[in-house]
Amino acid sequence: MTAKIDLHCHSTISDGKFTPQELVAHAAKSGVKVLALTDHDDVSGLQAAREAAVEHGIHFVNGVEISAMWKKRTLHIVGLKIDAENTALKTALDKVRIGRDERAQEMSAGLAKVGIHGAYEGAQEIAKKSILTRSHFAQFLVQSGHVKDVKSVFKKFLVKGKPGFVDHQWMNLEQAVELIVGAGGSAVIAHPGRYDLGRINMLLLMHEFRRYGGTAIEVVTGSHTPPQFQQFAKIAHQFSLKCSIGSDYHGPGLSYMAMGSVPELPAGCVPVWDDWPEKQYLN
Ligand code: AMP
Ligand code: MN
Ligand code: MN
Ligand code: MN
Repeated sequence: MTAKIDLHCHSTISDGKFTPQELVAHAAKSGVKVLALTDHDDVSGLQAAREAAVEHGIHFVNGVEISAMWKKRTLHIVGLKIDAENTALKTALDKVRIGRDERAQEMSAGLAKVGIHGAYEGAQEIAKKSILTRSHFAQFLVQSGHVKDVKSVFKKFLVKGKPGFVDHQWMNLEQAVELIVGAGGSAVIAHPGRYDLGRINMLLLMHEFRRYGGTAIEVVTGSHTPPQFQQFAKIAHQFSLKCSIGSDYHGPGLSYMAMGSVPELPAGCVPVWDDWPEKQYLN
């Protein structure tokens, strides 16, 4: 069975292909009944998505995916049911977006050193008015013929040790969780299987995250393999964390999992939506 809930996806507000309205229409067509939009470090698409959800007869949940640091690594923390008008959250995200722009200029300078010029402008042209992410640089590098596809572009240019990588300082994990909780939301560790932490650090992360007020982890995500669904269901249980589901959909050709094709949580998981009114729409 596929899940009727999807609590992680992206629109043109960050690095997705569809506008918030198009994304909601796509979700509705794909059989999703409860949807959260979780753009990177930006909540400005939520209002439009919420209005579109009414039009398409689906139920919308405010979301965001915040870039954070823990032990010198970048983690993504999803905030669900946040108040998008919360001042502290808005101010902090404004700051992150300024930092992203500086980072993009440094990335471009790094690429120029290996003979790739105009990457900042190129990425900006693809991103249009949205924030600048490594995805936009990846697309620029493919479109300008420097690499053949988006998969190899990350390995060659955009990860640690490569010319387009910048060791950016995001806010720390504790701040990210506090901002989300302070805005009335639930904090969820996005795609924990992607962080390459090792067993001890993974357990330490779960412990700290809970201590800061974190609620859940993504168990079923486009970034996990089926054995990882089981692995993280077990970890969630061990730490009394709830479980979330998200496709992490970015648009056609940009995602591992299509919307509406996301498996349900493994048996025994307590869903992050367990005490939400939206739960009634999932039967
Ligand atoms: P940023 O937040 O600017 O570092 O960009 C991260 C985004 O780049 C992620 O949210 C993904 O959309 C994309 N991304 C990161 N790593 C990969 C990869 N190996 N292959 C494809 N897309 C990736
Ligand atoms: Mn992304
Ligand atoms: Mn992510
Ligand atoms: Mn994401």
